[in-house]
Amino acid sequence: MDCIFCKIARSEIPAELLFENENIMAFRDINPLAPVHILIIPKKHIQGIDQLETYDLPLLAEMFAVAQKLARQNQIHETGYRVFVNSGPDADQQVPHLHVHLVGGAMLAKPC
Ligand code: 5GP
Ligand code: ZN
Repeated sequence: MDCIFCKIARSEIPAELLFENENIMAFRDINPLAPVHILIIPKKHIQGIDQLETYDLPLLAEMFAVAQKLARQNQIHETGYRVFVNSGPDADQQVPHLHVHLVGGAMLAKPC
């Protein structure tokens, strides 16, 4: 699969890894929007929210639990943070492999 996040999941290209288990990986965004910007991905290739199947839904809970854990580890849990997913062209999804952004460490501008 010629997908950059699949390649990170298979350790074929490097990333600053912050969490990994059998289903999920988290690593720092290469072009951070804020002092803390982490991407949380399923290891399995799923294009976006619209491509999720019912049997994938537990992955979302796991990804949000990892976001909470990493927010605490990065000391942004008290100041707050944003957790979001861009899915599809109108959201300007750049990488077609589902990923949750965890962004914080500064006052964030409101998206649309
Ligand atoms: P999207 O716009 O698809 O929601 O976000 C894609 C994110 O992936 C962007 O914030 C971008 O900086 C990040 N990104 C793209 N390629 C790489 C990469 O090779 N490594 C890492 N760590 N992040 C990447
Ligand atoms: Zn992929």
